[in-house]
Amino acid sequence: MISAWHRPTVVTVNLEKIRHNFHQVMQNLPKKTQAWAVVKANAYGHGAVEVAKYLQGEVTGFCLSNIDEALELRGAGIDAPLLVMGVIPIEAVPLARTHQIAVTIASQEWLEKLLASGIDTVGLQVHLKVDTGMGRIGFRDGQSVSQAVQTLTTAGMVFAGIFTHFATADEKDDEQFQAQLTCFKEVLANLPQKPDRVHASNSATAIWHKETIFDAVRLGDVLYGLNPSGETLEMPLDLRPALSLASSLVHVKEVPAGSSIGYGATYQTSNSEWIGTVPIGYADGLTRDMQGFKVLIDGQFCEIIGRVSMDQITVRLPKAYPLGTAVTLIGQNGQCQITVQDWANYRETINYEIVCLLSDRIVRHYSQ
Ligand SMILES: *Cc1c(COP(=O)(O)O)cnc(C)c1O
Repeated sequence: MISAWHRPTVVTVNLEKIRHNFHQVMQNLPKKTQAWAVVKANAYGHGAVEVAKYLQGEVTGFCLSNIDEALELRGAGIDAPLLVMGVIPIEAVPLARTHQIAVTIASQEWLEKLLASGIDTVGLQVHLKVDTGMGRIGFRDGQSVSQAVQTLTTAGMVFAGIFTHFATADEKDDEQFQAQLTCFKEVLANLPQKPDRVHASNSATAIWHKETIFDAVRLGDVLYGLNPSGETLEMPLDLRPALSLASSLVHVKEVPAGSSIGYGATYQTSNSEWIGTVPIGYADGLTRDMQGFKVLIDGQFCEIIGRVSMDQITVRLPKAYPLGTAVTLIGQNGQCQITVQDWANYRETINYEIVCLLSDRIVRHYSQ
């Protein structure tokens, strides 16, 4: 999608805050811990290339969810180690090998299909994924992991890593977490050969289960200054949200009592009211269920009234404001602020989803 460069709606990402958040987490971990920055989904909407360029001197490497995200970084000249954490198509293995992108192997069936394809696998860097209870992808027991290790090493691949992923690291109750940990340790104890790296920690695990760090952490949400648990667990670190979202008023009018606003005429003015229009809508990731949410104008909260359209929202203003008046959708305005978590709470979802859904139509600006 083309970004709307000639529109006042802009995401600003403060890269220095991402670096600050990264150091906050790492300061609390054992010194030798390696750090992978997770920049999948366009770095959770923050811009994968820009974030990776900024962090590349400080991290061990980057994690992506698919091969195209990894190729985007290679295309931008990033030569740090890359790991694709999802299952890639067999046909994409030559691309991974050519561009030195480590891939995840999650099943014996996939491994055997790769060998049967005749694709050259010598030197291919692989990480084995162990499903200790997440239930998505991965080997589910030690015996199948051992079999895979034997198969892949015989085929000349490099056993670069083994990892798992916890389902409940951001919850108060840690029963499931402990069961997964025990399972992972059992698999590790029975490995026929040790890989270069063992890793298990996403953001929540790195923060609230510091005892569980093996060789490396895979940090996503925290880098962007967000609390992976939402508001369930207290954040012991000084995290700084890196993303703000702003726009401005492109139309302002006073309408008489009884005027209807927006599709479906769901809002009727009860008095004479000042209405402002802001050029952002559900095609930008400000979804229709945001009707009733409040944005900041001139340091005051102003309600989104009427339906959220594809490209525009309407807000009730306390008085007339000139065209071009700043509108803060995420970030600070005067004494008040709106956080990504406020959006998540309003939409009854998680902060991850809010930032990932900010679409490519919104221009990203970078500050330091
Ligand atoms: C997305 C992802 C991460 C990062 O998770 P955060 O909670 O954002 O830190 C780590 N590991 C895997 C396997 C993932 O898919």
